[in-house]
Amino acid sequence: AKFKQGLEKSREQFQGALNNLMSQYRTVDEDFFEALEEMLIQADVGFQTVMDLTDELRDYARKENITETIYLKEIIVEKIVEIYNQDETLDEEMNITAGELNVILMVGVNGVGKTTTIGKLAHRYKAQGKTVMLAAGDTFRAGAIDQLQVWGDRVGVEVVRQAEGSDPAAVMYDAVHAAKKQGVDVLICDTAGRLQNKKNLMNELGKIKRVLQKVIPEAPHEVLLALDATTGQNALSQAKSFKEVTDVTGIVLTKLDGTAKGGIVLAIRNELSIPVKYVGLGEKLDDLQPFNAERYVYGLFA
Ligand code: GDP
Repeated sequence: AKFKQGLEKSREQFQGALNNLMSQYRTVDEDFFEALEEMLIQADVGFQTVMDLTDELRDYARKENITETIYLKEIIVEKIVEIYNQDETLDEEMNITAGELNVILMVGVNGVGKTTTIGKLAHRYKAQGKTVMLAAGDTFRAGAIDQLQVWGDRVGVEVVRQAEGSDPAAVMYDAVHAAKKQGVDVLICDTAGRLQNKKNLMNELGKIKRVLQKVIPEAPHEVLLALDATTGQNALSQAKSFKEVTDVTGIVLTKLDGTAKGGIVLAIRNELSIPVKYVGLGEKLDDLQPFNAERYVYGLFA
């Protein structure tokens, strides 16, 4: 129900646009396919994905001898799910193992909802009976540490912090040691999102990883990139940049409730080969949902 609610804007847009299209173009022809392409691109689905999809649909219509667009409606949804799932290496599940310390590194530029997502994740894991600790690794942005502390207090989890301006790697060193000592299940690390200076960011994240690995060789188990869905193609280019800087294992797409262009999920997954692991559907603690491609696409259209 949460999922459906959060996708309201996108669903209205997708369904409305598709219905309009089918009443405007009743016959399956090139005009229809071009209008469909235009509609999907408007919804931020991403150029390459749209082209893949309409090529498949053209083939299907020809083979099955479908002449009326209305009979393509269901197959459009099915094909989108298929395109989503074609890369089986893209696992939507989090790499979290029970009974050991798991480290999640959160990256992303300021304002995308990184801190909120950390709070929501902590809440989720705590609700599952796991012990959680946060590391205030964004020592650069004024107020970032206090903001994380607010979420830590709200959820009721410890926040490991140092003074503003201190070395993020030193914070991580403290945090991973404390987490191990206390038998914590999930350590979620905030980081500074300074994409303007890629070289610095790369060095900083590299150093953080090395420090973590001294204590937990497999760490970080996940590097989650937070992206703001309302920024559309901009989110896509941010993802490309972060991919150059570090090994991103998954994406959290925030503010999906605030956009009618839910197609951005498809574009990210297909064009970057990074799985979307969670979506943010609101500002409250329980407004974070694990992502599932099938549920998502049917949520948009059904
Ligand atoms: P940060 O700078 O990346 O840490 O961003 P914040 O966590 O401070 O979030 C920025 C703003 O986005 C805040 O007002 C959040 O309440 C809001 N926000 C974060 N996630 C979501 C979401 O999934 N949906 C909505 N509607 N707002 C969100």
